[in-house]
This record gives sequence, structure tokens and C-alpha cells, in this order.
Amino acid sequence: MYRSSLTFKGGYIHTIAVRMVKLEIRGLKVYYYTSKGIVKAVDGTNMNTSESVGIVGESGSGKSTLAYAMMRMLQHPARIVEGGIILDGKDLLAMNEREFNEHVRWKKIAMVFQYAMNSLDPVYKVKDQMYEVLRQHGVDAIDDTILVDALRETGLDAGVLEYYPHELSGGMKQRVVIAMALLLKPSVLIADEPTTALDVLVQAQIMNMLKRFKSNGLMIILITHDLSIVAEVVDRVAIMYAGQIVEFNTVDVIFKEAKHPYTQALMSSIPRLKGEKRLSYIKGDPPNPFDYPKGCRFYARCPYAMDKCMQEPPYISIGDGYVRCWLYR
Ligand code: SF4
Repeated sequence: MYRSSLTFKGGYIHTIAVRMVKLEIRGLKVYYYTSKGIVKAVDGTNMNTSESVGIVGESGSGKSTLAYAMMRMLQHPARIVEGGIILDGKDLLAMNEREFNEHVRWKKIAMVFQYAMNSLDPVYKVKDQMYEVLRQHGVDAIDDTILVDALRETGLDAGVLEYYPHELSGGMKQRVVIAMALLLKPSVLIADEPTTALDVLVQAQIMNMLKRFKSNGLMIILITHDLSIVAEVVDRVAIMYAGQIVEFNTVDVIFKEAKHPYTQALMSSIPRLKGEKRLSYIKGDPPNPFDYPKGCRFYARCPYAMDKCMQEPPYISIGDGYVRCWLYR
């Protein structure tokens, strides 16, 4: 648990501590209303957790859309059609924009966006960009202490405040954007492919950092297409396919006894250091998001497909989680 004192508008000192939170995604549907038709990017998604989660899926599976929905940062033509996002008993989608911005965005849930390090403004020092985040969220910092604390959380020292982005390496820039996300001490940190475009050593450092945050009580929602990197960082895994979570369970269950044929196929595509096991790939392509088939969306690629799979797969409880597949009914 880490603590810091922030001075909010109005002058009082407020102490924030990271604590356990409960996050529930309830029947969420997010559709893109495009000129070519409706893309059902997130289509009936359910998840309930008070632990860190890795959301894993291939491009277009809906994982980033789900993250943007949690931040309420979806833009036209995306629209939340139905469902709820409940944090500690409060439905974030029922709040008005002002309420959400004042009490939740960046204060309870913050996000490190994909390619975020490229969004640093080249003409402003790191310090100015960090102060801007505080100003945008109504926090008047009396000195650099908050900024330095956030930088230190990411392994950077105070000197970085005076740097311009072009003076930083890719890894340092990524740490700066993570520090910016931590400035207001959120309880949930969404990291969307946080290691993209970084070399392997820096990737490992960033992952270890997220792991440390998690052990300090921060809930990490790690969005990735790479199942192999989640095991070390999160406690639970949600496997997304064609807009739906098809399997949700603890890291242990997913890695030792994955149930859904798609999860099993992802597991078989992870390279191993030992053994002679050949890597396998998943034949076929994901279904057309403009026109998802009825029933199981993995049907055309599934080696176990059967007639009843043409109907919507049921939720089958497995331990603490679930799988959506007719094989287990
Ligand atoms: Fe395969 Fe049927 Fe399970 Fe879908 S429901 S993953 S088609 S077995």
C-alpha cells in the first residue's frame, strides 16, 4: 500500500491509499454504428473481480473497446448499447460526465493507452505535462513532490522532470506515461499493450513494475494479445473472442487446464523453452464483426464443433470462473 498527500481545490489535504476494489462488467454491449453497418465490438461481456485481470485476445476481439468503455472514453461512432460497469457498487455508466470526471476518471481508474509514449508533447518538459494532468483533474500541487513520488514509483528520478520527451529513451517515456497515470493514486490501472515497441529487456522491466504495483494493492487490468506475458503479472485471465469473453478464470486454471478450445489453441501457440512440442496455429479467420454467426462464434475454427454449437453457448461455472462452450454441458 502506498500513500501520498494531495492538495485539492479548496485547500484541504487529502490522503489517498490504494485499497482493494471490486469491479463488475455486467452484460456490456458496445457497438460501432458505421456507414457500412453495425460492428458489435463488445457483445454481452460479463466479468466480476477484485483481483488483477489480463484481458487476452487477438486484434479486433474487443479488448481495447472494453477498456475505453471502462474509462468512458468511447467516441463516435461507438455507443454503449446496454450493460453496466460497476466499481465498488456504483454503476459508472449511470453517472453523468461531470460526476465521472470529478470522482472516477484518473482518480479511481486510470489508463496507460496503447502507444501512449508517442503522445507526449515534444515541446513541453515532462514536468509541465505532469502538472497539466493534475490541473485537468482539479488538483493544485503545491510543489513537485507528487510528481517526484509518481516518477519514483516507476524507477525514474526527479531529474527527469526537466527533460523534454526527445531526451528520453522509449522505456523512459513509457515509465513517464505510467507515472502520469499514477499521479492521482487510482485503485485500478488499465494498461493497454504497455510493452508494444519496447525491447525485450525493457518489456520485462515494465512487467515487473506492474507486478510490484499489483502487490501494493493496485488492480491491474492488462490488455494484451500475448497470453504468455499475463501469467506473471495478473491473478485472473479473461479470454476474448469476437466481442465476447469465452473463458474467465484464475491464471492457474487457464494455464494448467484451459477449457475453451480457443484458449487451448492459444496455449498451444506459446513457444516453450524445453521439450520438442511443435507450435500450432489456429486455422481460419475470426468471423466478420459486421455479421457474427448465430451460436458459438468459434464454430468455424473449432475442432470439436457439433450441431448444438449453432446455438448460443451457455455459461458453465468452472471453479471461480466460467467457460462458454457446449462441450461442458
Ligand atoms: Fe467449439 Fe462448440 Fe465449444 Fe464453440 S461451443 S468452442 S464450437 S465445442
